Amino acid sequence: RAKNEGRGTFRRYDASMGAQIRDRRQLEHDLRHAVTRGELELVYQPQSEIGTGVVTGFEALLRWRHPTRGSIPPAVFVPIAEETGAILEIGAWVLREACRAAASWPNPLAIAVNVSAVQLHNPHFVQFVHGTLFEASLKAERLEIEITETALIRDPARALLTLRQLKALGVQIAMDDFGTGYSSLSNLRAFPFDRIKIDGSFIKAVHSNPQGAAIVRSVLGLGRGLGLAVVAEGVETAEELSFLAQENCTLAQGYLLGRPEPIARFSTHTHGAAPDRAAAVA
Ligand code: C2E
Ligand code: MG
Ligand code: MG
Ligand code: MG
Repeated sequence: RAKNEGRGTFRRYDASMGAQIRDRRQLEHDLRHAVTRGELELVYQPQSEIGTGVVTGFEALLRWRHPTRGSIPPAVFVPIAEETGAILEIGAWVLREACRAAASWPNPLAIAVNVSAVQLHNPHFVQFVHGTLFEASLKAERLEIEITETALIRDPARALLTLRQLKALGVQIAMDDFGTGYSSLSNLRAFPFDRIKIDGSFIKAVHSNPQGAAIVRSVLGLGRGLGLAVVAEGVETAEELSFLAQENCTLAQGYLLGRPEPIARFSTHTHGAAPDRAAAVA
């Protein structure tokens, strides 16, 4: 009996592994058609000045409305798209769509776009960015590219060249999720970043967490010393925001200030414009 149970257990394990692999294959396959089938969508989350509440720009965040599984989060499908190479086509769609949307917003609102290592290392990437800005009639200064530290590691020399070329176009570069990656401080010196985004995990309850507070203060100090703007990510509570204000952090992003939405609401508490004035996203 023990033997049978053992075998049964093995069989169940085996079957579930098979199902997992089929599941993953199916997702890979579906992802290849997601762009052409119009299943991808961008949502836009505001970034605001802490002192004034003025919205300075938006981060474009990708959503996949799968026909049968519903909404699949980027944390699930972006890594798959990176492994299969589908991220090149998807990333191209994201950049075009984001630039087109931003071109319809009042100047100088900026658009931040997440770019993965695979895209950054594609030899046509800089030319593609250039062409996309031109087609959308968007000034390069209004585009910000968000890169994680992990994207720099594979081929730092190539990454540096690409980032320098993007800077030469006038594009802004942000280091995303700062503190979660390899956090080699030399990355901040070696690469031409314009801003640092402190990962949301350090902002969580920062007002009552001495370790988080110490880390946030030191990143703000780094930003000041290196002349880089610092954005606090994942700000959810008024207490977190007032801690950041007290520490002279200038920019914030998070549910407290605005959720990611299909429509960029750029004037909720800014410029004295009508509260419901919004840019429709094509
Ligand atoms: P990220 O670039 O660090 O984006 C911030 C994430 O934090 C987003 O998750 C956003 O919805 C979420 N967030 C914003 N405010 C809050 C808050 O107050 N509390 C909490 N708990 N979360 C908050 P999302 O949209 O699920 O995206 C996850 C990650 O997927 C992104 O992290 C980014 O690395 C990646 N991603 C998203 N869109 C794209 C894309 O177009 N291309 C690529 N390559 N990656 C993307
Ligand atoms: Mg980001
Ligand atoms: Mg981030
Ligand atoms: Mg992230």
